Amino acid sequence: MESFIYDVQASRVIFGIGKIKEIKNELENLGGKRAFAISTQEQEGLASEVKNLLGDLCAGVYTKAIQHVPLDTVEESLKLVKDLNVDSLVPIGGGSSIGLAKAIALQTALPILAIPTTYAGSEMTPIWGMTENGLKKTGKNLVVKPKTVIYDPELTYTLPSRLTVTSGMNAIAHCVEGLYAENANPITTIMAEEGIRALSSSLPKILADPSDSNARSNALYGCWLGGTVLGSVGMALHHKLCHALGGSYNLPHAETHTVILPFALFYNANYVPEAIKVIARAIGCDESDPAGALFDLASSLGVPTSLEEIGMKETDLDEAAKIATENPYYNPGPVHEQSIRQLLELAYKGVRPQ
Ligand code: NAD
Repeated sequence: MESFIYDVQASRVIFGIGKIKEIKNELENLGGKRAFAISTQEQEGLASEVKNLLGDLCAGVYTKAIQHVPLDTVEESLKLVKDLNVDSLVPIGGGSSIGLAKAIALQTALPILAIPTTYAGSEMTPIWGMTENGLKKTGKNLVVKPKTVIYDPELTYTLPSRLTVTSGMNAIAHCVEGLYAENANPITTIMAEEGIRALSSSLPKILADPSDSNARSNALYGCWLGGTVLGSVGMALHHKLCHALGGSYNLPHAETHTVILPFALFYNANYVPEAIKVIARAIGCDESDPAGALFDLASSLGVPTSLEEIGMKETDLDEAAKIATENPYYNPGPVHEQSIRQLLELAYKGVRPQ
């Protein structure tokens, strides 16, 4: 076995159906007495539930979190946090609500108790992001990593099927790239395999019955594992491509991950034979075809499998290949503009990789 470093970034995780009811105890464990609940506008009902469950421990509610954390929402919340003498942050929702809490924590060092309701995985990472004048800045700081996370699968029953699948594919992407990360280690490898298995087996069951409690629990468990992998090791070509496409062409986050993953894996396959074996074992497919099997999974679940379907223009592919190869992330295989252009062409057309 090769030597490795494993940074344990402890979070307390409470997992199970109905566990949102533990929120008051958990906030008290963190020493919180004046919490600030955060959600998107669409999920203000959940923010009200948090307020009711916290009772006198809730100092205020903010329901204007939006994707990519615009600076004005951060500034508006920071003012409220100060005026209301807030001592803890309780985001409920997806990466948008949790992202806003992280941006506030970056400036205030307030502890976060996160209640995720999508599979994006932000709650398990020290990565923050913020958008100013159309430019997204990101960074890593342990101060923004939630101290406690409550995973309550019941809160995900309302996730629309398209978002369930694409958000689940986003979580699978964290696991896949974690397997061939520069700093991969045996612990994250175990988590990644288990995450792929849990998600790929549960997503079809959820589509058949969105309130299948066992399948919803398994998917959220897989998302926790994926988020932990994302927060522990570096990502590679797939994430670089998604960041470049999302940032430059405003493509939707989870859909972009869904479309790109099979193509990025196919591109890297020859350089990562061990990862390929693990992915094939986790999905239950032939070792010659895990990229194709991921494509089939997305396609069978009725979500987009081409960049064209999610709003990319063919005329932007040249520029996209250039942007995606500037300041490349670590990648196990060589990354050249021309070969990335070919990858993007196939992803644009949605040609099954094989
Ligand atoms: P999101 O938080 O914007 O949620 C998408 C939509 O779904 C929103 O309208 C939300 O209100 C709604 N929604 C959420 N949960 C729901 C539920 N259970 N039922 C019904 N509707 C629900 O999107 P996301 O995909 O969770 O997160 C994407 C954002 O997170 C991006 O900005 C991305 O960059 C960021 N992200 C950050 C990290 C990190 O480590 N910092 C990791 C992953 C994603």
